[in-house]
Amino acid sequence: MNQIKVMKFGGTSVGKPERMRQVSQLITADPSTPTIVVLSALSGTTNALVEIGNAIATGQREKAKELIEKLEAHYQTFISDLVKTAPSLAKAKAIVAEHFEFLTIILRISFSEALSKDILAQGELLSTKLFSVFLEENGIGHSLLPALEFMTIDAHDEPQINSIKTKLTQLLQQHKDKNLFITQGYICRNARGEVDNLKRGGSDYTASLIAAAINASVCEIWTDIDGMHNNDPRVVKKTVAIEQLSFEEAAELAYFGAKILHPASIWPAQFYKVPVRLLNTMQPDAKGTLITEAAGSEGVKAIAAKDGIVAINIRSSRMLLAYGFLRKIFEIFEKYRTPIDMITTSEVAVSLTIESIAELKAIVRELEPFGTIEVEENHTIVSIVGNEIAHTPDVLSKLFSALIPVPIRMVSYGGSKHNVSLLIPSAHKTETLQLLNKGLFGLE
Ligand code: ASP
Ligand code: MG
Repeated sequence: MNQIKVMKFGGTSVGKPERMRQVSQLITADPSTPTIVVLSALSGTTNALVEIGNAIATGQREKAKELIEKLEAHYQTFISDLVKTAPSLAKAKAIVAEHFEFLTIILRISFSEALSKDILAQGELLSTKLFSVFLEENGIGHSLLPALEFMTIDAHDEPQINSIKTKLTQLLQQHKDKNLFITQGYICRNARGEVDNLKRGGSDYTASLIAAAINASVCEIWTDIDGMHNNDPRVVKKTVAIEQLSFEEAAELAYFGAKILHPASIWPAQFYKVPVRLLNTMQPDAKGTLITEAAGSEGVKAIAAKDGIVAINIRSSRMLLAYGFLRKIFEIFEKYRTPIDMITTSEVAVSLTIESIAELKAIVRELEPFGTIEVEENHTIVSIVGNEIAHTPDVLSKLFSALIPVPIRMVSYGGSKHNVSLLIPSAHKTETLQLLNKGLFGLE
């Protein structure tokens, strides 16, 4: 068997019947290459399922019922457009009926965390099964691989790559006669054997884990934009797609706000050396972005921004010439399982940032004995990413001269050769991204 290729399609790529048709063309363009296709739920479905789960969890069963009915109506319209023949429509209807009956049954039983995961799993189960009916109607041979039979996470929610590899290889062996496989993104089984998921946006992670597990030739992530862009297209007018990125650069961008790729999806591809390609379903001929081990050209490649950041400043004269101070502070964050994104220090103060505020109060309470604590919410991390930018002349001078009007709160430089991060008040984000687009890329 040739090396397998993985192709993942996001919610908007399968969100309309005509998109599904387009996906069927893309996955059959090269029939000699064995291909595993990973699908998200139709766009809007997972959000709707979250709402349904929340309504049930808060005892609003009437509201949940209405939401379920509304979603079912959407699927009825979708399938009547998707398939043409009566037998296919009957099959599609049976699938929709099965999954919505399940949701209706859930309405009647008492709510639990495990049940909410079951609710969330319906989106990917529906999209893959309906797509399978569509492929069958069009005479496109394939097999459905149930993700719940091979995608597993351990007690710490970490994917079990070796077991995924064994189980997936076995499944592929059972379908030796096939060259095309369809599976669900996002969903998995946890250590207790229950249905679980890889967190929101996790279908990218599924694709990368599969690609790593079977040593795929490439992991293609198909979305509705032609690759990773140099800046946030929602904030600045002119952006360009980046042709090539290293895994490290892509990880920084994905973590610091580029919505196109789930940050966790970088490591499996990176570790198992599978190139990742970001492509556009609406414009399949566009080059997109290729992510590989090699960094390609030097210099600044992109800017990403992450909102909802809280800055915490700890000021204490006891820090002067003391050792072990940072360890004690870090231990508090560790205790509350809160990741720190940025950190800067002076001899008498430390500033650091966190994204999750769930444990903020408790953290501040424990920090108080160490000095004066200041908390500033509503900040944004702007991350400037590129290859060897620490060694590229002019980057810093261009950066700071572009940002003269912006009150920069923190700067992190030198942690990696690929990134400079700035912390700014969120109110200045649009201005910052626009000024940097001009100052660093010469784009308006
Ligand atoms: N359907 C899931 C979500 O919307 C997973 C994904 O699309 O990646 O989060
Ligand atoms: Mg996504």
